[in-house]
Amino acid sequence: MLLRMTFRDDSSIDNSLASAGGGGGLGRGMMIGGGGIGTVVIGLIIYFLTGSTGGAPQQPSQQGAGQGISAGQEQVNRDIAACKTGADANKNTTCRIVATSNSLDKVWATLVRGYKKPAGLKIMPSDAASINTGCGVADAGTGPFYCPADNVAVFQLDFMDRVIKKMGGSNAAFSQEYIVAHEWGHHIQTLLGDINKAQQGKGAQGGSVRVELQADCYAGVWASKADKGDGAMLKPLTQEDINGAIQSAQAIGDDTIQRNAGRNVNPESFSHGTSEQRVRWFTQGYKSGAPSQCNTFTGSI
Ligand SMILES: [Zn+2]
Repeated sequence: MLLRMTFRDDSSIDNSLASAGGGGGLGRGMMIGGGGIGTVVIGLIIYFLTGSTGGAPQQPSQQGAGQGISAGQEQVNRDIAACKTGADANKNTTCRIVATSNSLDKVWATLVRGYKKPAGLKIMPSDAASINTGCGVADAGTGPFYCPADNVAVFQLDFMDRVIKKMGGSNAAFSQEYIVAHEWGHHIQTLLGDINKAQQGKGAQGGSVRVELQADCYAGVWASKADKGDGAMLKPLTQEDINGAIQSAQAIGDDTIQRNAGRNVNPESFSHGTSEQRVRWFTQGYKSGAPSQCNTFTGSI
């Protein structure tokens, strides 16, 4: 049961970029050499929500290759086709992801000159073992990610509905929306030419952490604007909604993930920043509503 429904019932939804991901889309070329994300990827980086849920790179599953689409994918495509209004987004996770992407496109079009939408929004059902993107083959356990090579954002229903809560995140609808907004943050970074800064330096002060914290800040900027103005798709957000996003940002900090996995906290291995940093940068974006306040690339973070 999700907490408060956040979309205006009468807001209208554009489902044209969304489709079910995984399975049948596996390309043979990407299978060569095996390995999952991180090994099959040739010089291309993809941007995750967390550093942990994927675990070690795995052999991509053969499932779906040349076998058409799964029952779960058929259901996702039916849900996408039926996704017309905010009322649908309030009832259904697939539709909530699509509607959030619409709101993100609307808000960012007002903030970024020449804004372009991502090329695709892929939603993976639990019976899809892996997905092929321009960044390589990603196992279903990878968690939500954005691939800058082909501008595609990927979300797994299992992560959105179950895994994030298991990690200590919130069950609020707005928590799911924060996750979508974080990946859109990487799309903005791609449009602005900042995404490759992730490769500058490693560890707690390195490029990856800086890029990830900026994506959290951008998610906050979106949140500050998504419920305002004539075309707003969200109802006025409450503190409870915002707390849902904060709880989830807290849950997916590198230090918290390492601690919960029974490991020692090792800043040298950080990729996304601590819980405190993730919450602080999301909040900074939310309170300022200004992308210029999301400069994580200079100074200490
Ligand atoms: Zn990310």
